[in-house]
Amino acid sequence: MSNDKTAATAAPAPNFLRNIVEQDLATGAYQREGLPSVITRFPPEPNGYLHIGHAKSICLNFGLARDYAGRCHLRFDDTNPAKEEQEYVDSIIDSVKWLGFDWEHKGPVGAGTHLYYASDYFDRLYEMAEYLIKAGFAYVDSQSADEMAANRGNFNTPGTNSPFRNRPAEESLQLFRDMKAGKYADGEHILRAKISEDAMASPNMNLRDPAIYRIRHAHHHRTGDKWCIYPMYDYTHPISDALENITHSICTLEFQDHRPFYDWLLATLAEGGFFRQPVPKQYEFARLNLTYIVTSKRKLRQLVEECIVDGWDDPRLPTLVGMRRRGFTPEGIQLMAERTGVTKSDGWIDYGVLEGAVREDLDPKAPRAIAVLRPLKLIVDNFDANDSVECSSPVHPHHPELGNRTFPFTRELWIEEEDFMEVPTKGYFRFYPPVDGQPGARVRLKYGFVVECIGYDKDENGKVTAVHVNYFPDSKSGTDGANNYKVKGNITWVSAAAALAAEVRLYDRLFTDAQPDSGGKDFKQFLNPHSKEVITAYLEPGLKDAQAEQRFQFERHGYFVADRVDSQPGKPVFNRIVTLKDSWGTK
Ligand code: ATP
Ligand code: MG
Repeated sequence: MSNDKTAATAAPAPNFLRNIVEQDLATGAYQREGLPSVITRFPPEPNGYLHIGHAKSICLNFGLARDYAGRCHLRFDDTNPAKEEQEYVDSIIDSVKWLGFDWEHKGPVGAGTHLYYASDYFDRLYEMAEYLIKAGFAYVDSQSADEMAANRGNFNTPGTNSPFRNRPAEESLQLFRDMKAGKYADGEHILRAKISEDAMASPNMNLRDPAIYRIRHAHHHRTGDKWCIYPMYDYTHPISDALENITHSICTLEFQDHRPFYDWLLATLAEGGFFRQPVPKQYEFARLNLTYIVTSKRKLRQLVEECIVDGWDDPRLPTLVGMRRRGFTPEGIQLMAERTGVTKSDGWIDYGVLEGAVREDLDPKAPRAIAVLRPLKLIVDNFDANDSVECSSPVHPHHPELGNRTFPFTRELWIEEEDFMEVPTKGYFRFYPPVDGQPGARVRLKYGFVVECIGYDKDENGKVTAVHVNYFPDSKSGTDGANNYKVKGNITWVSAAAALAAEVRLYDRLFTDAQPDSGGKDFKQFLNPHSKEVITAYLEPGLKDAQAEQRFQFERHGYFVADRVDSQPGKPVFNRIVTLKDSWGTK
């Protein structure tokens, strides 16, 4: 596709994180015994399915590790017991692998499996919290949630110190131990950091004595009922990074204001002897915003639970399970991630960039096949009903080594409805009937014979039901006689007797608005009523052997995949991945 090629030859997309990593490599910032100099991590919370935004982060983190001989950890940030489930853990593992990455590092240093769970650090996190209390950097606050909120102040008003802020360390320590022992109900006490004497007046709200442990009598999907206090995200995340010797901790821009706490916590604990220098550093980049989708977990859940889509893996959803089912390729998604660059300013990426990348990946690899999606009968009047002629064409026009595919030419064929016009418009080179002594259109049936239109049938409603042609026996493609016929039209077809009738699902964008949920808009008002159409199409007979997840280019129509869930042996069901050209908005 010509418009995709232009993008391919464009300059590499900017990625400021590459520059930082290269600089750190050049200065030896992270040269440490037995460890690679670049260690990144992808830290999902196992509370939902991954989506295209996560794919961006996965490609970035695993991609940097791959490109700079480092390693990338998959870490489940599973410190919130209420919302997390094994089902999500399994799905996330599957999706990261499907995207083409793993956490097996081959070395030369630091080889091994690098799959981690923040919940595995609960003992260490607890130990460090006790240290912070003893060192005067944390205290147990016994205010009610309302009091705490009121005393926090806001952007314009400094906060007010808690009356418990200066309670003796031994008292906080005893309370914290009793919190752990289950002596208190949820919300009765909370452990807060004390970064400095005047931290409650900090212009950065995240530094106003942030909570680091809370009481939560809840069952955890991995640690069971062992704990009734759980560490907060802002406390757990930097420590997990440091315990894993992460070098570059990459997150999205909304965490910029959390960085001062990240730095303070690690510096304080390093001074306390828990970590060696250099500790990890956090870098923020602009999240991926794609048009025509929503990625908020809440909104995706709404689409699923209200049956607006057919489950989490609905091919119209931007979940990775959905995109996989749709037939998008991991390589295409990686290409999109690379091409959209990594910057510090928020912006929107057109959905067409993703589709273009997928097309570009598929074009050189997808075997070709013929499909008739809107069938109209074509009858070759001068061809014997019992006869059949084998025709063939290359599996891929640029890969002769893949050989040829064959299919029969018979008396009755299927062509596309749009390939016949009773009264042709100017420049229409497909089928039209003879009129006023002028012969009907002469057209080549692609890879088959040249035929001439001699008439057509209509039903009582005026609908065309069949087109009649005569064929020229010496005009077969690939034979000497083929050159004797000059035709302008070249039309795809399948034999009616041999075609595979198959369910084909034509998917399109789920929303009609480019930013369906921006500016407080109700995204459900912009659902595209034509986002899914199910048809029975007639396919080239060889497609009956298509394997689940095998992808094809159906000539003229686009790229299609054999659905991985509903395809049966000998009876594939196809999903349209993407059309051949970006036709959005032109219909
Ligand atoms: P969401 O809010 O979109 O449901 P999340 O941030 O709650 O996602 P996490 O499991 O916390 O989901 O995310 C894991 C990682 O993926 C984080 O490092 C997060 O910054 C990153 N991430 C999430 N969405 C995007 C996005 N749109 N673009 C880039 N990175 C993203
Ligand atoms: Mg998050």
